[in-house]
Amino acid sequence: MTAQYFAPVASPQHPRSTFADRHIGPSPDDQSRMLAAIGYSSAEALMDDAVPAVIRTGRPLDLPAALSEPQALARLRELAAKNTVVRSMIGLGYHGTHTPGVILRNVLENPGWYTAYTPYQPEISQGRLEALLNFQTVVSDLTGLPVANASLLDEGTAAAEAMALAHRVSKRKDPGSFLVDTDALPQTIEVIRTRAVPLGIEVVIADLSGGLPEGDFFGVLLQYPGASGAVRDLEPVSAAAHERGAQVVVAADLLALTLLRPPGESGADIVVGSSQRFGVPYGFGGPHAGYMAVREGIQRQLPGRLVGVSVDADGAPAYRLALQTREQHIRREKATSNICTAQVLLAVMASMYAVYHGPEGLAAIAERTHGHAAEIAAGLRRAGAEVVHDAFFDTVLARVPGRAREILAKALENGRNLRLVDDDHLAIACDETTDASDVAAVLASFGLDEAPAEEVAQAIPEGLRRESPYLTHPVFHAHRSETAMLRYLRKLQDRDIALDRSMIPLGSCTMKLNATTEMEPITWPEFADIHPFAPVEQVQGYLELIGELEDWLAELTGYARVSVQPNAGSQGELAGLLAIRGYHASRGDQGRTICLIPSSAHGTNAASAVMAGMKVVVVTCDDHGNIDLDDLHAKIEKHREQLAAIMVTYPSTHGVFEETIADVCKAVHDAGGQVYVDGANLNALVGLARPGEFGSDVSHLNLHKTFCIPHGGGGPGVGPVGVREHLVPFLPSHPLRAEAGPQETGVGPISAAPWGSAGILPISWTYIAMMGPDGLREATESAIIGANYLAARLAPHYPVLYTGRNGLVAHECIADLRKITKETGVTAEDVAKRLIDYGFHAPTLSFPVAGTLMIEPTESEDLAELDRFADAMIEIRREIERVADGTFDRDDNPLKNAPHTAASLITEDWKHSYTREEAAYPVPALREDKYWSPVRRIDQAYGDRNLVCSCPPPEAFED
Ligand SMILES: *Cc1c(COP(=O)(O)O)cnc(C)c1O
Repeated sequence: MTAQYFAPVASPQHPRSTFADRHIGPSPDDQSRMLAAIGYSSAEALMDDAVPAVIRTGRPLDLPAALSEPQALARLRELAAKNTVVRSMIGLGYHGTHTPGVILRNVLENPGWYTAYTPYQPEISQGRLEALLNFQTVVSDLTGLPVANASLLDEGTAAAEAMALAHRVSKRKDPGSFLVDTDALPQTIEVIRTRAVPLGIEVVIADLSGGLPEGDFFGVLLQYPGASGAVRDLEPVSAAAHERGAQVVVAADLLALTLLRPPGESGADIVVGSSQRFGVPYGFGGPHAGYMAVREGIQRQLPGRLVGVSVDADGAPAYRLALQTREQHIRREKATSNICTAQVLLAVMASMYAVYHGPEGLAAIAERTHGHAAEIAAGLRRAGAEVVHDAFFDTVLARVPGRAREILAKALENGRNLRLVDDDHLAIACDETTDASDVAAVLASFGLDEAPAEEVAQAIPEGLRRESPYLTHPVFHAHRSETAMLRYLRKLQDRDIALDRSMIPLGSCTMKLNATTEMEPITWPEFADIHPFAPVEQVQGYLELIGELEDWLAELTGYARVSVQPNAGSQGELAGLLAIRGYHASRGDQGRTICLIPSSAHGTNAASAVMAGMKVVVVTCDDHGNIDLDDLHAKIEKHREQLAAIMVTYPSTHGVFEETIADVCKAVHDAGGQVYVDGANLNALVGLARPGEFGSDVSHLNLHKTFCIPHGGGGPGVGPVGVREHLVPFLPSHPLRAEAGPQETGVGPISAAPWGSAGILPISWTYIAMMGPDGLREATESAIIGANYLAARLAPHYPVLYTGRNGLVAHECIADLRKITKETGVTAEDVAKRLIDYGFHAPTLSFPVAGTLMIEPTESEDLAELDRFADAMIEIRREIERVADGTFDRDDNPLKNAPHTAASLITEDWKHSYTREEAAYPVPALREDKYWSPVRRIDQAYGDRNLVCSCPPPEAFED
């Protein structure tokens, strides 16, 4: 191949030279054509008509000029070089691990996995749903509890969710007290405190090694093994806690559970933790998949997503999300938690690590890890140090009176990070990557020169050794060779529709390009292999990158400061509401607890408000989908004294720029309330308007929507919170990192790690750096042009539900199926499933309005793809016409029977009122490139009635 082959395709009309030109799908010519179809001659004219003048910024973005892709990578290399990769033996919930190459390249670095959306359309998500079911099986087997969810955000928040679950289970009306062992991870204790304060729950920290203190508690949390490394029998405390009617929560290490008696066999009701050490790099604190497992009887109150097994229209087993009625998008303020985006990609990685190693492999890794810890303990004893705990798994606590700092420094000279507990104690944690050189380096730091020769004793008490089997399902035994593993990953990937196949027109979720150059740095060792509590000198590159990113996001939003700590939009909401709460409290306004939320809001808003100790009051919307100002004023009047805040999404979840936003902000401010603008729709604002300028006090952003972090099949995400000056003192902080937020006045940690999911921040940094101020604005304009173009093409066929001024929409539009449904029986869901036969992921189904489809094209889809989608929607409308005119049977037609599997078409007895060609190839292009759904439509209700949420036996899949 010659170099010429790679030369950019450039012509005077199509100057393809900047990254923005690659990121933005439609060429300038195409944009002109799209504008003409909407009835405009320029982007400026459309923006002037679509975006209300009251919100338009008068100040262009003050950001560095765009870098090219090579320039951005060079700058990232410079930042990376300012981080120092040191072998960390710090522990505290974060451990070294070898990501198997086959998983690194084929999952973490593979757009087939990382660009997928949350599996709300299960028929096109069978691959990742199977991987998540494997994850649930791993967690359930290792913890010894029957039901596990499909991931939580991290260990600290999982523990806080467990506290909330324990409280729900206790059915207490009062807040009560939650007891936490002193040997819990310090960041876990602080995340629990942050969450407990607004709910009025008293957190009691006590040393439980000798039993329970006096008092009445609804729950008790133990760490297993403890932060100090100690392994203690959980049973006595569990039994005592149960006697007092308390739920027992255990935060456990999954690798340790391959050797230790599982908490489920020692009386635990809830087990939480992190699956990070199953092949997921440190990433300076995240993203990693937290987990939660529960005993029989409380699964219907579990937070987070749960994958279950159901059947499809042919009775074949099929996976889907179970018991969704617990979740925020359905139950809003009554949801079991506010979690929406979780950690799917990382849960997939952890599950595949278990699939690849199997139970014997995992046990061998655990034995080796334990063996090194035992060697270190033996060596320390010979060096005259006291080993504090006789029973441990991977972490040794050494007592060295007065010498801890000196030994810490010596270890660093020897290339190892140890953990300073206090002046007299050091902890040393071993992991999968520990080898003889680490043991020798540690012992040398303590002054012992030769490695121990003798056989060292194991330090797991006989009575606490695990006896029950785990991972007995065939999936954990069938993929031992790399070839088999590669093919298993490929098989699952091929079942799913991700962005590498077609556009995903999901309203509210901004499924835009996740550029390869943005993704590259996250697996560089200087970003991936940094422990979150590594000494600050070793993380200067990260701090610089984070500082720049936070400043850029502040400039984009018009806020004084941004914190990237919240590791999902939902967590950003909680952080923002806690800032509001802190602000009111600082002024003696404790009585302000009412949060106004429009009826159109995303479910996380209401759920977060409840977690922040607020009471939700719903404001209605008028027939145009706008906040009903009369109702707003009435509610403000009624709650004037108690008004804490309003949460509004802008542009609205209906895809409209509401003209009244400035009035809304003013009315709330006049009554003493604060304004929270949910920034999930920032893709319609970047470069054109800033929430901090048009009246908002605080927002969260979704870096996994607007700023190119891929959705990962339902996570990871980052939900930075931005605030105006008066709320800066109440941003998140972190107990172990003064640099991470305001120490004195901050609300405490919102996530376990100081900068949340720091490991994926380079993605958003790179996006902003490569787009530059003009590229970012042009992306917004292109997104608005795209949405209006699709609205214009679809409007003759499907009513477009809400429009703003001049009949225009913002960055998404809603196709209203309700009249069609009334007339023909064809529902929005039928259209969503029929789109699968056309090779598309459905738009957002029935949110924010039931019976509708919300479509967001984003700026990244080119005109050909937009037209392919519009053509599919229009062809489907013709099919609906044939149902209406009787050509197709009302109940037996290509829409009702969609999606069609190959097997359902290749049968002897085809008895339908339409042909197989009409089913499979409704448009000619599908003959060339066809996605086949692996299952037919899935029976949702069956799966909830017959709940199965770990791997079903293989016989279930036999004919
Ligand atoms: C996606 C979204 C959220 C929640 O963000 P997560 O990262 O999924 O927690 C909140 N509000 C709106 C409007 C959203 O679209």
